[in-house]
Amino acid sequence: MKSDVLIIGAGGAGLTAALHAKEKGVSVRVLTKEYPTRSQTCMAQGGINAALGNNGEDSVEAHIANTLKSAHGMANEDAVRHLCASAPEAVEWLDRLGVCFSRTKDAKIAQRSLGGASAPRACHAQDYTGLKILHSLYDKCLSEGIEILNEKFLLDVIVSEDKACGVSVLDIRSGEVEVYESKSVILATGGYSRVYDKHSTNSTASTGDGIVAAVRAGAKLKDMAFVQFHPTGLKNSSILISESARGAGGYLLNSKGERFVDELRPRDEVARAINEQILSGEEVFLDIRHLGEEFIDEELPQERKLAILYENIDPVTDLIPIKPVAHYTMGGIEVDKTSSTSLKGLYAAGECANHGVHGANRLGGNSLLELIVFGKQAGQNAAAYALLENSDVDIHPQVKYGSEIEDDNDIELDFYKIKEEIADLFYKNVGIIRCEKDLLSAEEKIQEIQSKLHLMGAEDRSKVYNTNRIEFLEFKNTLEVCAYVVREALDIKESCGAHYRID
Ligand SMILES: Cc1cc2nc3c(=O)[nH]c(=O)nc-3n(C[C@H](O)[C@H](O)[C@H](O)COP(=O)(O)OP(=O)(O)OC[C@H]3O[C@@H](n4cnc5c(N)ncnc54)[C@H](O)[C@@H]3O)c2cc1C
Repeated sequence: MKSDVLIIGAGGAGLTAALHAKEKGVSVRVLTKEYPTRSQTCMAQGGINAALGNNGEDSVEAHIANTLKSAHGMANEDAVRHLCASAPEAVEWLDRLGVCFSRTKDAKIAQRSLGGASAPRACHAQDYTGLKILHSLYDKCLSEGIEILNEKFLLDVIVSEDKACGVSVLDIRSGEVEVYESKSVILATGGYSRVYDKHSTNSTASTGDGIVAAVRAGAKLKDMAFVQFHPTGLKNSSILISESARGAGGYLLNSKGERFVDELRPRDEVARAINEQILSGEEVFLDIRHLGEEFIDEELPQERKLAILYENIDPVTDLIPIKPVAHYTMGGIEVDKTSSTSLKGLYAAGECANHGVHGANRLGGNSLLELIVFGKQAGQNAAAYALLENSDVDIHPQVKYGSEIEDDNDIELDFYKIKEEIADLFYKNVGIIRCEKDLLSAEEKIQEIQSKLHLMGAEDRSKVYNTNRIEFLEFKNTLEVCAYVVREALDIKESCGAHYRID
């Protein structure tokens, strides 16, 4: 059955959009390639920004100023004003949904400092903020009876009469291509940091699928070159140690035990300072030992567990070895102030979208906020569009879909190996520091790999639960994304935020 609003992605943005669309009285369907509670939003630790002033003086104006400064002049001021002014209401909405925020002694929502913020502003649930938000949103969607279909891999946004009117997906369980028709479509498929693969904090699902599908359907992209590198990924696994560790007073030290940067500068600056140390032969460590076991177990329990599990060190007694890793992608599908893309009927929200609020460097704690503020906006506007009489378009019989999965290539090249090679190359050449020579060689490599795609494919030709095939589709999407990123990085000659040209 055709739905009014069809949402692809069940992370924070997709589920928020679903709840607000439903409130408008339309039918809503959500499709996702993973189970909703596994969406990357569950990994967010540090918090969600709102100028509540519960742990020290703060104001919406200060939040706006910090966001604009961090964005290096590349943000849209009106969008930033809307984001920051809507933040207290967004957090209040989450609180009412049942998100178990940490509390101050007088029972207000507790707030902590993150880099680039002039006040403790990040509302958090210990360091499980994203997990608690995602679970609360999912609970609410279930209780509202919103239809959520899991393990559906987006292939194409279907366009008829120049309007989005549904999607084609690969049903992962059966291996069949399916079509879902709708009056409007919202893409909420997350970012593309996994083009850096193991050099990224992100979920393996962050392969930019929705962004590539949007381009194929005719939508525009913006700021794809702006990729944020988080200063403190664990050295061996790239798993994130949250900025809240530095916000609470953690130090960065080199092998000589010297501090070398103000730890609470914006992420791009701190990441570059660490990178410089590493390039000069130093190891870099995060030191939170002085915060004490009691504080760490209360405020940063997940960080401690992750460091023990994945780095075999205990932050209560040991230094934490770290390196900067790809963390957040500011670029994405260009949307206007109604969250509408350049294609009629197609909306986007969350990390896959570009609402112009992060510019060249996102402020920590503003992404979770963006999911709630612009997820709501996308849901409401996609619902309003679906209620218009002329939004109901049938799929033209000649529209072809699902062609991406037709592959009977003779496999000569191992795409898993090539994926790793690209990630290493991108981390080095299209990473924290960039120059024309390196960018050109990365672009050449991507073009060479694209020309050899007919020699790669899924070895497993079965249909049911064929993860090999899904991973090949994701690989093809990351290749496309790499081409967009490196092309734009070549076009932007001067340094700006996370895009730092050394030439
Ligand atoms: C370790 C870590 C810590 C972070 N901490 C913070 C923090 O403290 N504060 C903050 O503000 N931000 C933080 N962030 C950033 C923030 O968590 C993300 O930007 C945000 O959660 C993205 O949400 P989303 O809804 O856009 O996408 P996601 O949560 O990534 O969800 C994407 C959804 O799309 C689905 N999907 C993707 N591709 C397809 C496809 N082809 N077909 C069908 N479905 C598809 C996925 O299954 C998933 O359901 C952190 C990020 C990481 C990685």
